[in-house]
Amino acid sequence: MKFKAIAIDGPAGAGKSTVAKILSKKIGFTYIDSGALFRAITLKILKLGIDVNDVDNIIKHAKNAKVDFIENSIYLDGIDVSKEIRDDIVNKTVSYIAMIPEIREIIANIQREIAKTKNVVVDGRDIGTTVFPDAFAKFFLTASVDERARRRYNQYLDKTKYSLEDIKNQIIHRDYIDSNRESSPLKQADDAILIDTTNRSIDEVIEEILYHIFIKGGI
Ligand code: C5P
Repeated sequence: MKFKAIAIDGPAGAGKSTVAKILSKKIGFTYIDSGALFRAITLKILKLGIDVNDVDNIIKHAKNAKVDFIENSIYLDGIDVSKEIRDDIVNKTVSYIAMIPEIREIIANIQREIAKTKNVVVDGRDIGTTVFPDAFAKFFLTASVDERARRRYNQYLDKTKYSLEDIKNQIIHRDYIDSNRESSPLKQADDAILIDTTNRSIDEVIEEILYHIFIKGGI
């Protein structure tokens, strides 16, 4: 690989995107939020009213979807969908769309295309194992499920809709599907560095990542 990729994988709420965003700024790499790509395709399928079991139709529309990152916003067919992709209905559907191998291939190729011309920090579930197996550095972030649920709950502005327990159950369910699917499941790569973020600040996690990057010879 001519350009460098740094992979940050892990379950929902482990702090991947926050860490990846700050890290990419610090080291001058482009940030790729691979979850946002799965979410954008899911949003398209939902908007078209396609059933999650209608795999052929899902693949057809995913192939035609135009998904772009422009300054940390995500565009689907020319429209900024950065907010919509975080809707509940997307949270609940995305893991089913992400089970489809052809969808995973389409999204992996979008990421590889970006990484042909830029250094990237990529967060996701299968970055170190499948999308960029030759990544320069790989990290796997985890945290206790209670901590991850608390973080997600605190991000919700309307606290009346879901209880902390509801959020915890949603996370457990999504992680279960992501970890048990056949095609590139959520898994720590053999050569990834495990970081438990449970009782650690974002700055501490970034410091640790920078330390490992330094040990690997810097960027
Ligand atoms: O990271 P985020 O929570 O936005 O990811 C949403 C979903 O997209 C995950 O729960 C998973 O089903 C899917 N995903 C994936 N592989 C990735 C990134 C996300 O399967 N690399």
